[in-house]
Amino acid sequence: MSSKIPDSCYACDSSPSSREHVPPKCLFPTELGQNLRKDLITVPSCEVHNGKKSDDDEFLLASLAGIVGCNNIGMLHKFTKVDRAIRRSGGRLLKKVLKTSEVKSHKLEDGNVVDIAWGKPDLERLHTCFSLIGLGLYFHELGERFKGKVTCEVVYVPINDRGRAGYREFAVEQMHKELSTSKVKGENPEVFQWVIGPRDPSGACCGKVVFYGNLSVYLAFIPESFKEDDFVNLYDIAKSASKPVYIQKDGKRFRIN
Ligand SMILES: [Zn+2]
Repeated sequence: MSSKIPDSCYACDSSPSSREHVPPKCLFPTELGQNLRKDLITVPSCEVHNGKKSDDDEFLLASLAGIVGCNNIGMLHKFTKVDRAIRRSGGRLLKKVLKTSEVKSHKLEDGNVVDIAWGKPDLERLHTCFSLIGLGLYFHELGERFKGKVTCEVVYVPINDRGRAGYREFAVEQMHKELSTSKVKGENPEVFQWVIGPRDPSGACCGKVVFYGNLSVYLAFIPESFKEDDFVNLYDIAKSASKPVYIQKDGKRFRIN
C-alpha cells in the first residue's frame, strides 16, 4: 500500500488540511439501533472545500432526509436529527432549504398530525453540494482529482418546463445505460449508494448517487478540455421551434420543446 500523502484537495489545487466525508457523515444516522456508518468514505480536503465549515453538510441533510420519496431510514432520521437541527436554528435552516415555504398540518390515518413543509428547494446550492460529492467519489475511486465541471440532474425534483423535462428524460436514459455495466457501491445502501461509469477517451464519464433508497441524482463529469462552443445544445435550439421537436434514440422518442 502506498503511504504517499495526497498533495491536493479532492476539489482544487490547494493543500489539504483535513479529510472530508463523502457524502457528509451527518447523513448517516446513529440513533436507529443499527450500524449505518460502515466504511464511510473520506478524501483529503482544503479549508474551503470542507462542508462542515460552510454549513453545507447541515443544508444537504435537511434537504434530503424526510423529503417525499425517501425510505424509512431517511424518514426516521428526519424526525430525530433534522427536526432537532431545525428547532435549534429557530427555523432559519428550513428557510435555507426551501426558498419559498409554508408549513401545512396533515392529519394521518391514525389521527396523528404531522407538519409538512412545502416549497421550492434551493437547487443552485444543492447542485453545488452534489457536484462536490461527485468530485469526492471520483477522487476516492480513481485516486486523482477530476479537473473539469460536474453537472447534475436531480431527478427527484420535478421540472415544470416540458422541453427541459423531456431533455432530462433523454439524458438520464443515456446515463442509465452507460452505468448499467458498472458496479453499484455503498456499504450502507439504505442511506447511500453510488456508481461511477467508465471514462470515454476524452476523460468524460457519468455517475449516479442515491440517497435514502430512492432519491437519485445523475452526475456528468465534463473535462476541462471540452469547449462548450463545440457542442450543440439541442434543447436550446428546440426552444425556438414552432413545431414539436423530438430526439429519437433506440426506438424511444423524447419531446424536447
Ligand atoms: Zn479545495
